[in-house]
Amino acid sequence: MNRDEIIKVLKNPNAEKTKEIFSLADAVRKKSVGDEVHLRAIIEISNYCKESCLYCGLNKNNKNLKRYRLSEEEIFSTALKAFNFGFQTIVIQSGEDPLIKTEFIENVVKRIKDNLDVAITLSLGERNLDDYKRWKDAGSDRILLKFETSDLYLYNQLRGKNEKVHKRVEMLKELRTIGYEIGSGIMVGTPFQSYESLVDDLFLMKELDLDMIAIGPYIPHKDTPLNDKLNSIVVKDPEATTLILVALSRILNPFANIPSTTALSVIDPKEGRINGLKCGANVIMPDLTPEPYKSLYEIYDGKTSSPEWNEISQENLLRSLKMAGRIPSSSKGSRIKKIYPLQ
Ligand code: SAM
Repeated sequence: MNRDEIIKVLKNPNAEKTKEIFSLADAVRKKSVGDEVHLRAIIEISNYCKESCLYCGLNKNNKNLKRYRLSEEEIFSTALKAFNFGFQTIVIQSGEDPLIKTEFIENVVKRIKDNLDVAITLSLGERNLDDYKRWKDAGSDRILLKFETSDLYLYNQLRGKNEKVHKRVEMLKELRTIGYEIGSGIMVGTPFQSYESLVDDLFLMKELDLDMIAIGPYIPHKDTPLNDKLNSIVVKDPEATTLILVALSRILNPFANIPSTTALSVIDPKEGRINGLKCGANVIMPDLTPEPYKSLYEIYDGKTSSPEWNEISQENLLRSLKMAGRIPSSSKGSRIKKIYPLQ
């Protein structure tokens, strides 16, 4: 499919064409990365943020949010809990919190790596390259830093920036040279975002040769400025559009790790996760943040409504994977480096 054809499908998805794209994505997924699903545990270590992104509930101007920061002990005990559940990747995430010291993350990473056989993904936002180098030396493996949209004008508007060059895109390239696996992605359906720019996003993700591609629908948050601009949303059905973009990403990037994002499961708690897996995704990232903090990491409305992760959540997840004909991965799930089609 060329650019114009993709734009046409996104604007007017008919059932037959969508089904065709989903089946092709599923077939590519099966052939390239197989039936295994990588389970990654997210620990949200701080909801402080110095940024004022118009879409995000953590933005610094949201005075209705109680802020928290986890201690090293709390992070480690949550990582241990995740490990005991069988998770082989720990994703350490936070708002852009300048009071999280470089040494703090260094110690957390070292402690987890010294004691647990897991991969570590950092999703802490923009930090300087020296921090990222130190955290790599400490043992972290991957970075997740979404560029959110390739449309720099829209990006600057949404994030209150005035960048001439997309800093996050440049950072991703640098982070790869340090030796990290790089993950990035976009939000789908923010006000003013066009279908055309979504196709640019798709091609930029391909060009960056991302190891992990995260595509999630925008979900409004009542205490954010963007909530007043919802009548400027162009993308009619962010959930359906997200699924098509996930499928197209799989077709374009056969070996990338592609999560069925949390936001999909918030929009559709019963089927959202599985829907993502059916159209090309091979990763699920449950939130293991302990209460009372989990309820405070409210980036969008409804994000925090599920209970703290427990045995029942784990059983439900494994059961739904089985019903979908998928199996939990037995590895840490680094990206497979091969050429497609397979010889
Ligand atoms: N501070 C880190 C960063 O900026 O990369 C990680 C935390 S940030 C809250 C994680 C992701 O949440 C963002 O990359 C963005 O895509 C997503 N997000 C924030 N607000 C959202 C919303 N209203 N709807 C959907 N996703 C949202």
